[in-house]
Amino acid sequence: MSYSGPTTLYIDGEWTAAESGETFVTEDPATEEPYADVAEAAEADVDRAVAAAYEAAHRDGEWRSLGPRERGQHLHAMADAIEERKDEIVNVESHDNGKTPFEASLDIDMVIETFRYYAGWTDKIQGDEVPVPGDRLNYTVREPVGVTGHVIPWNYPFQLAGRSLAPALACGNTAVLKPSSTTPLSALYYAVAAEEAGLPEGVLNVVPGRGSTAGNRLAEHPDVDHVAFTGSTGVGKGVMERASENVTGVTLELGGKGPNVIFPDADLDAAAAGCHYGIFMNAGQMCWAGSRLVVHESVHDEVVDRVVQRAESTPLGSGIDDDGQMGPTVSESQQQEVLDYIETGKEEGATVATGGGVPEDKDAGYFVEPTVFTDVTNDMTIAQEEIFGPVLSVISFSDREEAIEIANDSPYGLMAGVWTSDLKTAHTVAEYLDYGMVSVNEYPVTQPQTPFGGFKESGYGREQGTEALHEYTQTKNVNVNLE
Ligand code: NDP
Repeated sequence: MSYSGPTTLYIDGEWTAAESGETFVTEDPATEEPYADVAEAAEADVDRAVAAAYEAAHRDGEWRSLGPRERGQHLHAMADAIEERKDEIVNVESHDNGKTPFEASLDIDMVIETFRYYAGWTDKIQGDEVPVPGDRLNYTVREPVGVTGHVIPWNYPFQLAGRSLAPALACGNTAVLKPSSTTPLSALYYAVAAEEAGLPEGVLNVVPGRGSTAGNRLAEHPDVDHVAFTGSTGVGKGVMERASENVTGVTLELGGKGPNVIFPDADLDAAAAGCHYGIFMNAGQMCWAGSRLVVHESVHDEVVDRVVQRAESTPLGSGIDDDGQMGPTVSESQQQEVLDYIETGKEEGATVATGGGVPEDKDAGYFVEPTVFTDVTNDMTIAQEEIFGPVLSVISFSDREEAIEIANDSPYGLMAGVWTSDLKTAHTVAEYLDYGMVSVNEYPVTQPQTPFGGFKESGYGREQGTEALHEYTQTKNVNVNLE
């Protein structure tokens, strides 16, 4: 093990062991070697963290009543602290998750931008005056909800934590962050940044632990006022159910099965590049992966050739000591799950155009070859279920209506791509796609300023942009009788 960063829980401004004294070992998925030994939070630790966050949310004269400009300065200071440690966090994230340093670096940059974006919002979160009959003054105030819980998956551990922490803190809330037990390390750097930024004790708490214990407790805790959950649709439904016992608000960012719809008039090189990036980045372990390529029959072969060629020229490796551009999947079980889906695709009659197994030249690491399936119909398992790995399913269409029908025939509705040079096609198809995010001639793309979230089983609520400010504030109406 060569990890030398933080390994304990961070509660109420203190680095602390789990009450049980338990720890768990994380693994480097590129080498299959143990990487770090981390304190394992369970229910009692989550209770301690929530109590600290509750106290900090209600303590007078500190976080809640801090002037908005000062709160913004704290967020900028968090961004500064993260920026100063960027190389270290990139390295940790690469070893813990398997993503390449290049990919990890993009994630950390996105977090820095997100904190700065919300730092600028702190003094602009305002209410309204409401015109009412009679001699009255009536106005609204947008107040923080209180304690926010953040349950984060393993595919973008640092980035997704920052995505919900930044708006929650900007709005004046306090936070308890539970990263995935598969990738708990980078989350602890938020605690380091909070210390450096001088956040009052208890404002930000980090509790690495398992979903079934720590995550579950956070979702059901009566003193948690909002749960921001990012993860699978199945677990998200359970989180929503448990939060509903206390009528606690939730933001759910769940799975996806994104279609990239390519029309014959598209720039096919650009489309192939976007489709490649959209499914093989992060080894395909992306909620917003463009895992279905829905292509017009007249350009099917040209597009497939280009995508296959790109897939076959992508070097696999961690990118740390080699020139790898696509890392391993996160764990042995994830690798096996992806390989099982590949077998199902073959059994159901799809054709492997490239990939379809583990690379022969790797002695270690949970790698899966970039895989492209052709002859896929949209009712096949590999076109309907989220594989969460580097597997692309190509489906052809004959006209615009059929393209829209195929794209929308999914339980998910997170992100879709449209590739065309015709403005009318672009806007019309964007209008008819049942997706929370549609991107034209670029895939995938998001910014701190743009709302992120899905339709249907891809989620509920929105992160990022001004929409997140509504998730993390509640409206109070004040009526004053002036007679
Ligand atoms: P999971 O749903 O398995 O886990 C997500 C988080 O929930 C983890 O921290 C996990 O902890 C925790 N968890 C697990 N069980 C429970 C429980 N019973 N109660 C509370 N928390 C629990 O997802 P994965 O980590 O496997 O991530 C992949 C999924 O995330 C994919 O479906 C992907 O599409 C989705 N995702 C969605 C995004 C979006 O923005 N829409 C972005 C990124 C991913 P632990 O890991 O320790 O068990």
